[in-house]
Amino acid sequence: MPVIKTTCVRDLKLRVNIADVVSRVVTLRKAGARLKGLCPFHSEKTPSFNVDPDKGFFKCFGCGKAGDVISFVRETEQLTFTEAVETLGQRFGVVIEYEEGSGPTREDRSLRQEIFDLHEQAADYFHETFRGAQATGDFMRAYWAEQRRFPMELADEFKIGAAAPDDGGLAARLWKRRPSEDALRQCGMFFIRDGAALTQGTLRPRFRGRLMIPIRDHQGRVVAFTARQTALTPADDPAREAKYVNSPETPIFTKGNLLFNLDRARSNVGEGRPFVLVEGQLDALRCWQVGLKTAVAPQGTSITDGQLALLRRYHPEVECFFDSDAAGQKAALRFLPMALKSGIEARFLSAGGAAKVDPDLLFLEKGLAAYDEIRRGALSAMAFACRAALPAGDAVSPEQKSRAALAVLEIISSAESEVTRAGCMAEAAGHLNLPLAALQKDFQRLVGKQERIAGFRPPAAPQSGAPAGTADQRSTPEGDLLLLCLHCEQVGKPLSAVLPHDWIDVRGPAGTLLNRFLGEFEQGTWPGRDHIDSLLETPEERALVASLLFDRPEFGDPAKVALEGLRRLRTRALEPRLRQIELALANRTANSNDDALSLLKESAELQRQLRQPLALAVPE
Ligand code: ZN
Repeated sequence: MPVIKTTCVRDLKLRVNIADVVSRVVTLRKAGARLKGLCPFHSEKTPSFNVDPDKGFFKCFGCGKAGDVISFVRETEQLTFTEAVETLGQRFGVVIEYEEGSGPTREDRSLRQEIFDLHEQAADYFHETFRGAQATGDFMRAYWAEQRRFPMELADEFKIGAAAPDDGGLAARLWKRRPSEDALRQCGMFFIRDGAALTQGTLRPRFRGRLMIPIRDHQGRVVAFTARQTALTPADDPAREAKYVNSPETPIFTKGNLLFNLDRARSNVGEGRPFVLVEGQLDALRCWQVGLKTAVAPQGTSITDGQLALLRRYHPEVECFFDSDAAGQKAALRFLPMALKSGIEARFLSAGGAAKVDPDLLFLEKGLAAYDEIRRGALSAMAFACRAALPAGDAVSPEQKSRAALAVLEIISSAESEVTRAGCMAEAAGHLNLPLAALQKDFQRLVGKQERIAGFRPPAAPQSGAPAGTADQRSTPEGDLLLLCLHCEQVGKPLSAVLPHDWIDVRGPAGTLLNRFLGEFEQGTWPGRDHIDSLLETPEERALVASLLFDRPEFGDPAKVALEGLRRLRTRALEPRLRQIELALANRTANSNDDALSLLKESAELQRQLRQPLALAVPE
């Protein structure tokens, strides 16, 4: 595991102003000592996302997300802790130092770096082949221009490439870079027999006789390729029949976290310019060519929550423009509940008709004007859902209608926001021509059933969408004591002396952290609240602590608060056993007197403990 020096993380956090980092993503306005803006983690119209530059924390009072500058970069750029620290270091000119002996860290990083480098090299190589005077280049350029009807400038702009049918050139080119064996084995561009000694000759190219489309991550780095089948694809290609072959997942490429063209589209979205989600890369390329610069395509067939979260970060509106055939519409319907769940405002574009029309074809024939035209006929999420759920034709039986309503309600239940749910329901009632009250009743029944299936879920939490464990964790005695330990550190040591560890419920992050923190206080190794990074092990723990640090609680008398927490923990720990004993004694049979005696003794001891005055010596 990569280990960055704790001192280095501390320095970084001191040197970097969290406001500078957040304002790259969120427009912030001053509100007292803090800054406020629209939350990048949930959909909202009035700002509840707060940044405290002095303390170096952010917190959203809408969805409960909270953290420091590192967690902000992790979450918004989907990086690991180490990557986030490295990214910040690079951005703000802070040299990152690694723990001595954590060698794998650097190797780990350089492996990714090497694989990035191999991909850039390969993209150049494929593009040169595409542009070259050889037979492969001639064929692919003709395919591009005549069959796909794309201009050559577009090929240059996106570095479209060609892989020759039997190509040793790529291996030769990459071999010259003297990459490590790991990088070659893990870059995904070659088939290498397991156990075979690695030589240039043993690298068998994965992509042959195909049109090569480089796939970039949201930072614009080539991380993979999509390879389109052509007449040149050789018969012995193991994926001969596949129209498209994608790079396998590698240390730099995770399919579900990537959208084609997001690196460019994200800087073109804005008010009135939503993302346009299309099915394939060639659709997205066509959109770009005609001037629709906000199109993105999922990598592979199905859309993932990760991809939608990525979109949501840059813009909340997405127009879904899939093929007009049955498969495309089915995919659009799959996308709908996921969009609701991620807080995306989805609209559905359709080129109409039963014949298959995809964006590529439509824009090729009619240009950008077609976009304005189909936008006028766009359907809202609910209109689309209701249309899909109702059978075609005018005569709809009551049974058909009730089935349709249920299907639509299922979709609505994926929205987490009560406001969204209510809005959807009102709209659906209109489309289905049903009384809203009836729909609401059915919805309650459906949600009740879903909850029974999913197991317990607290009914209508006040902050729906709050990450599990953050809001709930705070009303517990563990949460209260944790808050106290963080804001009145002088309480920590005396508390650790009197609070038995087995009173703490360690099933949630608050209990786990309280237990861990008290351990540090007890041993005299508490690092101070500004340096507790090393004590935090999971994202939930970091979020909880950030959220607690963000509070400015008024404790009055900290000792009193601590005693109250202690008392609640003690009651919770001891009383159930006491009640169990009372029950056993009440139900005892004549010949169990021995047991009764020991039970009575235990009961007396428990009662003594419960009555015992609690005291805490808190230094001033
Ligand atoms: Zn939020």
